[in-house]
Amino acid sequence: MITAQFDYQAPATLEEAVSLLAGDPDGAKVLAGGHSLIPAMKLRLAQPQLLVDIARIKALAYIREEGDQILIGATTTHYQLESSDLLKNICPLLPACAASIGDVQVRNKGTIGGSLAHSDPAGDWPAAALALGAELVLKGPNGERTVKADSFFIDLLTTDLQSGEILREIRIKKPSGRFRQAYQKVPHPASGFAVVGVAVHLAFNADGSCNSAGIGVTGVATKAFRAQGVESALVGASLDEQTIAAAAAKVCDGINPTTDLYASADYRRHLAQVHTRRAIQAALASAK
Ligand SMILES: Cc1cc2nc3c(=O)[nH]c(=O)nc-3n(C[C@H](O)[C@H](O)[C@H](O)COP(=O)(O)OP(=O)(O)OC[C@H]3O[C@@H](n4cnc5c(N)ncnc54)[C@H](O)[C@@H]3O)c2cc1C
Repeated sequence: MITAQFDYQAPATLEEAVSLLAGDPDGAKVLAGGHSLIPAMKLRLAQPQLLVDIARIKALAYIREEGDQILIGATTTHYQLESSDLLKNICPLLPACAASIGDVQVRNKGTIGGSLAHSDPAGDWPAAALALGAELVLKGPNGERTVKADSFFIDLLTTDLQSGEILREIRIKKPSGRFRQAYQKVPHPASGFAVVGVAVHLAFNADGSCNSAGIGVTGVATKAFRAQGVESALVGASLDEQTIAAAAAKVCDGINPTTDLYASADYRRHLAQVHTRRAIQAALASAK
């Protein structure tokens, strides 16, 4: 359980970090909270020659409103998101998701950017990012680009991040009008990772019918996904029990749930349906 040898750099700015990565495109890796990377290095699943520690770049940790957007710096920790009064007020799904992650130590060190970049199939943030239609700002040696969460998660531990790129900011459109949100999770009893996690964002028309729905699901397959069948079944409808149950039954449409030591594909499919229904009900019952 000892890592291979590596060099370590703690740049003071994002630009310096990008240039350090560019100097060693095959051997260098970004270090943020280290709560996924260091365990992988101890198991020798990852053997970077250089760690570029971005957690010490103060300008990368923030939560703020700008125009109609919520901006979150990549090294903002799970705990900072969990305890943000601003987010509790304007986008409660984010603190709810953060509060469900691991334990206090993990939440104190782990970062939202690290979690999204790692794309663990059981990670919680990808579900929330998908449900909220987040955009991710990536900075690399050739400049900056913005990608939608929808196209960012490609497969198991694989994202659209290209060699040398750093995820620097998460942008979320500020929810407006009448909306409700919730995060429901079946945690693995040892790690807290999601066996199934469902993030829900619902917006409503003046007559109470559903105007738009974002349903992000994690833990079920090799990557987090948007349950578009559920979303389509909710939009335009009045959300009574029957409609919610029929919509939730579509959560695994087009998805091959994973089987592992803890849960079979059939059990995951069942949990996903039950917890999608419960997450929608919890959103409807929430104060905001
Ligand atoms: C005991 C334990 C329990 C946990 N339970 C949960 C849980 O319940 N739910 C959950 O979601 N997670 C859980 N985690 C994982 C935790 O949330 C991690 O913090 C998170 O997955 C990775 O974030 P990090 O900042 O630690 O990233 P790191 O471990 O530092 O990095 C992870 C990967 O992302 C890359 N990276 C990091 N930041 C960036 C960036 N800004 N741009 C580009 N690449 C980047 C790194 O190079 C590395 O490949 C748990 C971890 C542990 C150890």
